[in-house]
Amino acid sequence: LFVKYEGPYLPGRICTVQKTRFEVIIPGDAISVPLSGALKSQKMYPVVGDFVVILNQPESATRMIVAILPRRTVLSRGGAGDYSGKQELAANIDTVFIVTEPGSDMSISRLERYLLITRSSGAQPVIVINKSDTCSDIPTLVKMINSEIRDIPVIPVSATEKTGLDHLNPYFDSGKTVIFIGSSGVGKSTLTNALTGKTLQTTGEIREDDGKGRHTTTVRHLLTLPDGSSLIDTPGLREIRIWTAGESVAETFDDIIEYATRCRFTDCSHNNEPGCAVRKAIEDGVLSHDRFTRYQKILKEISFEREKADIGL
Ligand code: GDP
Ligand code: ZN
Repeated sequence: LFVKYEGPYLPGRICTVQKTRFEVIIPGDAISVPLSGALKSQKMYPVVGDFVVILNQPESATRMIVAILPRRTVLSRGGAGDYSGKQELAANIDTVFIVTEPGSDMSISRLERYLLITRSSGAQPVIVINKSDTCSDIPTLVKMINSEIRDIPVIPVSATEKTGLDHLNPYFDSGKTVIFIGSSGVGKSTLTNALTGKTLQTTGEIREDDGKGRHTTTVRHLLTLPDGSSLIDTPGLREIRIWTAGESVAETFDDIIEYATRCRFTDCSHNNEPGCAVRKAIEDGVLSHDRFTRYQKILKEISFEREKADIGL
């Protein structure tokens, strides 16, 4: 991953964000370092997955992060491209596995929400149906998802039976970074363990000196796998908010946006205006009413979340 470089600067990648320090993977090691005063005063804070530059001067006992490299992708609760560290959850992810399971968690609108978040991050979304061992008709389930959500790979697996996992391999190429997101209990940890062949709790632990002679144990949030890929596992992802993803609504519901351009009124709400092309598409049976309802629901949530954000909730 890194070219060996001798000199006062080291390349590194953030694997854990702590209160005031950052755990960084450097060539052949992992170290805990603070942020330079310059970055702090500019309110530039790295997140898990960020590539950084470390100033390394052992003779003066100086070791700190002096730069954050530009992010290829950023998974965020707020606008992307901000380095304040408040909205961003992880950076430089190639593939986001949106994990779900057959049964009650299986909801197209929930999948669509995760898709919005993924798309606005810049990463590639892949839908993973875990616990496929608990469903007797996986092909029908996959077909249903494919008909509602277009152009996204849908991969059924079972983490406990270890079936279908091979189909995830292409996304774990050397140098690639992946993450599992989805509701609690769908099997993200079990999947991670099945794919890494280890348990996160033991491989992810780092012991560190807290400066007062005690050793504290934290769980690392970016794991480097034997094949050279990296897996991000950050707890904060559970609280992902939907309003982050405004721009990608257009991408996810491109068909509806397209119909809307043909409405008589440019500000058509598609409720009861005359000459509404969206309602006509539903009447003609080319647009599913459910899909339109989900679109409206998401728009409503986005404006609600934006209002809350504006008044500082
Ligand atoms: P997480 O909250 O998403 O990390 O979910 P966990 O990995 O903790 O899994 C929640 C529960 O689902 C555990 O009891 C797992 O044993 C179970 N589980 C995970 N994967 C599978 C699977 O492929 N099939 C079945 N039947 N159960 C699974
Ligand atoms: Zn309309």
